[in-house]
Amino acid sequence: MIDPLLLHIDGKQVPAADGETVAVENPATGEHLYDVAHAGAADVDAAVAAARAAFEDRRWSGMRPRDRARILNRAAALLAERIDEFARLETLQIGRPLREMRAQMRRLPEWLEYFGAVAQSAEGTVPEFGGDHLNVVRRVPLGVAGLITPWNHPLLITMKKLSAALAAGNSVVVKPSELGPAVPAALVLLLEEAGVPAGVVNLLTGLGATTGRLLSEHRGLDKLDITGGTETGRTVAASAGRSLIPVTAELGGKAPVIVFDDVDVADAVAGALFAAFIATGQTCVQGARVLVAEDVYDEVVDRLVNRTRRLRIGDPLDPETQIGPLVSGPQRDRVAAAVDRAREQGASVLCGGRVPDGVRFADGFFYEPTVVAGVTPAHDLWYDEVFGPVTLVRPFRDEADAVAQANDCPFGLAGSVWTRDVGRALRVADRLDIGIVWVNDHHRIDPASPWGGSKDSGIGSENGWDAYRGYTRTQSLIVNTGAGSPDWFGSSADLRYS
Ligand code: NAD
Repeated sequence: MIDPLLLHIDGKQVPAADGETVAVENPATGEHLYDVAHAGAADVDAAVAAARAAFEDRRWSGMRPRDRARILNRAAALLAERIDEFARLETLQIGRPLREMRAQMRRLPEWLEYFGAVAQSAEGTVPEFGGDHLNVVRRVPLGVAGLITPWNHPLLITMKKLSAALAAGNSVVVKPSELGPAVPAALVLLLEEAGVPAGVVNLLTGLGATTGRLLSEHRGLDKLDITGGTETGRTVAASAGRSLIPVTAELGGKAPVIVFDDVDVADAVAGALFAAFIATGQTCVQGARVLVAEDVYDEVVDRLVNRTRRLRIGDPLDPETQIGPLVSGPQRDRVAAAVDRAREQGASVLCGGRVPDGVRFADGFFYEPTVVAGVTPAHDLWYDEVFGPVTLVRPFRDEADAVAQANDCPFGLAGSVWTRDVGRALRVADRLDIGIVWVNDHHRIDPASPWGGSKDSGIGSENGWDAYRGYTRTQSLIVNTGAGSPDWFGSSADLRYS
């Protein structure tokens, strides 16, 4: 076990300058796992300065893209060897069932490989400037980026940001969530083992309100990239605004799962279950609103409730477990309060809606998977992100009603459409004000496929070329190819800019 987890600054493992630590606990048992360093202002200054020095002397940004890619590929191979160890550690910290953690982690080396390939394929452009000028537009790295990540997919989200940032030649300071810092910290060490030079990747552990805030307000950054709750995103984006630096913010969601009446009901129910309860419902793209065509509503809801009741809750390290604990006591209390409020406002809890009975659940932060009916836009549950194993079901009349209900939401991250009618799937997708639309599926992700939302779900995109470009800026190089030098003031002829 890692004890205590140290900061990583300029290639060295160091405690916080003032010796402060934060405790991390196992949400399945409530047991103390380890203490992590709690970075303060001096540590944030040191990490940003190390990243800046690494960027300025071009030890990484000046490397040929092919050589950077080779190192990223080496890191991918090292990561592939450690999947089981990392998955177990992640499960201990955040309580996500091990079978899911392994499935997710097995894919993560792909991010390093993909962005290594993007770095090698990136090209500039040569716009037609005209006259005696040649214009070459290059993409150059931004400099030092602050990466702030959440606990729900600690390694996946750190990986998404890091691989794009590093491929483009930036230096970074990573601030993982206080609830799940160990695996992102291990990744930083692994990257150096693979050959990323010291100082390029620095890591600060600590609380959001202190370490996270100090990092996001630091004036030594060239980019902020945050995944977290919408209010955190607003705060971090406001800091980016004050520093006039670009920000990517991947924030909350309340994804609709739209089930039309031409579906195979069993398939659609399996899909809704997957959408709603993977990661114990703690994902930004959780299927939190299952909208069902009136004709099949009763059948879909009956089957969904039956299957939800049969989900196996328990020890997340047990390979048979399908639903683990919530990440923390406060998170479990927030989920319970959201369901209680829905009840008070007149909704009906069809299953779940309680802490499970039994001694094995006594010390952890468990909550039964829950399906709620009778929720309308007059209820808080219609709009609020619960971030737990709670979904609502609601009927719709027709396509237009389905789209209107789906779009009646402050968030615009993702959603899924379940139908066999291709035209309908494409029509509905076109009208949904969301960043990611799955058809007859949910939750799928790929390093090449843009990930980001509209409205309160944030700004910018992870994955794909958009993410790579988001870690660069253009430099436009305009070369005078004329024979003589320009003499603006030396002639009385008509002046021309071109
Ligand atoms: P959070 O907002 O509490 O914390 C996210 C990160 O921000 C943590 O590292 C935290 O320490 C830090 N932080 C908190 N307050 C801060 C502040 N004032 N200044 C700077 N940093 C601060 O979120 P969480 O509970 O860790 O994660 C759950 C949220 O993340 C949910 O809302 C979920 O929808 C969202 N999320 C979004 C995506 C996406 O891709 N859009 C993916 C995963 C999670």
